[in-house]
Amino acid sequence: MGDSYDYLFKIILVGDGEVGKTSFVKRFTTGHFHRDCKMTIGVDFTIQTLQLDGKIVKLEIWDTAGQERFRSIVTRYYRDAHAALVIWINEVKMKCGEDIPHILLGNKCDKLSSRTVSSSDGECFARQHDMMSFLETSAKDGRNVDDAFYKLAQELFRTY
Ligand code: GDP
Ligand code: MG
Repeated sequence: MGDSYDYLFKIILVGDGEVGKTSFVKRFTTGHFHRDCKMTIGVDFTIQTLQLDGKIVKLEIWDTAGQERFRSIVTRYYRDAHAALVIWINEVKMKCGEDIPHILLGNKCDKLSSRTVSSSDGECFARQHDMMSFLETSAKDGRNVDDAFYKLAQELFRTY
């Protein structure tokens, strides 16, 4: 009881410190922007359950501070991941192989005055690296946060 599901997918968040990984997960799982995200220590995962086509899809969303010093943690983090929300593509390709779906996120799009990636550069990069798509997101105002997770879940749902 209480823990039945049709699919279980492990989704990892990857990117440099401070890009907004933890805020992004929190926005998706709680619907709010948490200003005071503590720095992630080691590895953390959160469960979120979705309904797709009447099936229960459980997402295990992994978040890390990317502490490369802790090799064993990092290895466990990437192992058996089904999909990734990525900011740092090389790392994921090295450790998971080429063939899990990726979406590239340009987060903090609410801060347009300090934009560091143009949308056409983002789209171009995503295409060149065989990623599913590029999305401009904001953990702060919630833009495209649900979309990112639903896109991945739907893609996995189609393939598994
Ligand atoms: P992490 O190190 O990648 O997990 O990044 P955090 O989630 O801890 O966020 C780092 C900082 O960026 C924090 O001060 C957040 O409040 C801020 N931040 C995260 N996402 C956004 C966003 O979408 N917009 C804005 N304006 N700030 C954000
Ligand atoms: Mg974090």
